[in-house]
Amino acid sequence: MTFVLATQNPKKQAELSAILSALGVETVTEDAVGARVAVEETGATFAENAALKADAVLRATGLPAIADDSGLCVDAMNGAPGVYSARYGGEDMDDAGRCRLVLEAMVGQTDRRAHFETAICCAFPNGDHVTASGACHGTIAFAPRGEGGFGYDPIFFFTEKRKTFAQLTSEEKAAVSHRGNALRAFREKLADYLSKQAEA
Ligand code: IMP
Repeated sequence: MTFVLATQNPKKQAELSAILSALGVETVTEDAVGARVAVEETGATFAENAALKADAVLRATGLPAIADDSGLCVDAMNGAPGVYSARYGGEDMDDAGRCRLVLEAMVGQTDRRAHFETAICCAFPNGDHVTASGACHGTIAFAPRGEGGFGYDPIFFFTEKRKTFAQLTSEEKAAVSHRGNALRAFREKLADYLSKQAEA
């Protein structure tokens, strides 16, 4: 069975195809099957958005499709930026600007708890969905720190290591991150689903 990866991000493609090839599953990119699908992320949750993207690519290709959606949720900001993480502050804002906006919103705030979350969804032509999620808990730093990573990494303080995500190596981050946790959970769930299908 060939799966389409509903992402144009080469790093995500590499991560997903590595995990799926370990399960003996072949993957292709949207581009490879000529189906670059624009999907409006209108879901209220990460899982809803991942399913919207996976369903759209399944409809366009007829192949099982895998999509993910992630973001940062800050407790004292009622879970914002949440599903709006990529667009927080508007389309013209860059990562540094988005970090600055969160720090501004958190001025004087003593409850600095936050978590990253990822949902991964695979939509199958028979209507089935396999969905997994992962989280990583930490706090919002008082100033950006570190050069690595992307997005909100410089302001996400991972208490266990006493470093921001931007101060971790990519291997250290993957071992504890929301995306790493979601990928590991997804691999288990998908393996389970595929073995049940093979038995049926
Ligand atoms: P995506 O759904 O994985 O593309 O993530 C949406 C947005 O959430 C990104 O544009 C980032 O702003 C933020 N985000 C997701 N994962 C991370 C992460 O691991 N570090 C920092 N920011 C992230």
